Amino acid sequence: MITCTKCGAKNSDETLACARCGNKLQSSRRAAPGPDAMDSPLEPFRHEGVPGDLMRSLKRMLEAWAYALLLGGVAAACIVYKIWWPLYPTVALIALLLWLRRV
Ligand SMILES: [Zn+2]
Repeated sequence: MITCTKCGAKNSDETLACARCGNKLQSSRRAAPGPDAMDSPLEPFRHEGVPGDLMRSLKRMLEAWAYALLLGGVAAACIVYKIWWPLYPTVALIALLLWLRRV
C-alpha cells in the first residue's frame, strides 16, 4: 500500500500514479537516495502552490477595485456637476476592459 503524498488516497504498490489525483507515487521499494528524493516533497509547494494563485487573484481583485473606483468617481462627479453624459462612455470603457481581460 502506498499513501499518496498529495491527497492521502491509498493506492496499491504496483500503481505509479495516484488513482484519485494523478500524483506521481513514490514507492518505498524504488526510493533511491539522490537529488530527486530530496526535491520531490517540496516541489508542489514551490511551483504550483500559493504564491502564483494568490498574486493572480490579488491582481484581479485590485483591478476590479480600480474599475469600481473609476466608475464611482465618475458617477460622483456626474452627481456633483449634474451632467450625465460622461457616465455612458465610462461604463462602455469599463465593459470593454472587462471584456478584453476575459479574452
Ligand atoms: Zn493523490
